[in-house]
Amino acid sequence: MTLHDGGVAEGDTILRLASRFEATLLGETVTASAPNPRGKAARIEQLDGLTLETVWVHGKHLLLGFGDLSLYSHLGMSGGWHFYRPGSRWRRPRSSAWALLSGGDWDAVQFGGPTLQVGTTARLRRNPQLTRLGPDILAPGFDPEAVIPGLRADPTRGLGDALLDQHLVAGIGNIFKSEACFAARVDPWRPVGEVSDEELVAVLGAAREQMLAAVESGGRHSFRVYKRRQGACPVCRGPISSRGQGDANRTTYWCPRCQG
Ligand SMILES: [Zn+2]
Repeated sequence: MTLHDGGVAEGDTILRLASRFEATLLGETVTASAPNPRGKAARIEQLDGLTLETVWVHGKHLLLGFGDLSLYSHLGMSGGWHFYRPGSRWRRPRSSAWALLSGGDWDAVQFGGPTLQVGTTARLRRNPQLTRLGPDILAPGFDPEAVIPGLRADPTRGLGDALLDQHLVAGIGNIFKSEACFAARVDPWRPVGEVSDEELVAVLGAAREQMLAAVESGGRHSFRVYKRRQGACPVCRGPISSRGQGDANRTTYWCPRCQG
């Protein structure tokens, strides 16, 4: 089983990843190794002989707790975790694996990504990358009203850009940014200060609903506008538009007719 390999890991992928760790390695004493020098630099081998005690997820961030030490993983655009039975064939070369955690008759293998580090649990929990995150859109009891003031802090910012700001709301990535705006019929280019409370609640609700559905379905979901620049809008049959948005120039997909 592969969790995220090619594509962008959004909150739904990381939530499934956490479930996978809970089902395989939680409570197990692990053998830890770093086949690739990048993993050695991340001090993966410090986890050898420790027991996975907690699995914590927030937005796109994952913390595996081994008592006083934890492993912090963020997959970004390129990273992935694979789960294999010991001795089975890997889908990528062993030498490219940053981390190998074995226990409970499973091998969890990490490849690539912007963040992989082992540190003291206390220090990692104070890491600004984690403490500055906004509410997790997939957390139980997520309250869309609570994130609206933050989303509007810069009223001139485009809605699609604001939705990707993990400090405002954590977990939404490029796919569900576009899909949620389409589902709620809101133009992602509108300045967020001009988007009504009702529309913001609808967009956030659509993102949460679609991402939870993706968790349930094991990551299978069909996109209605994302990467459908050659396609027709499933509602009005008009052309789908796409253009880079925000400082990071992340491509937004939308239907100008339905979301006008
Ligand atoms: Zn349309």
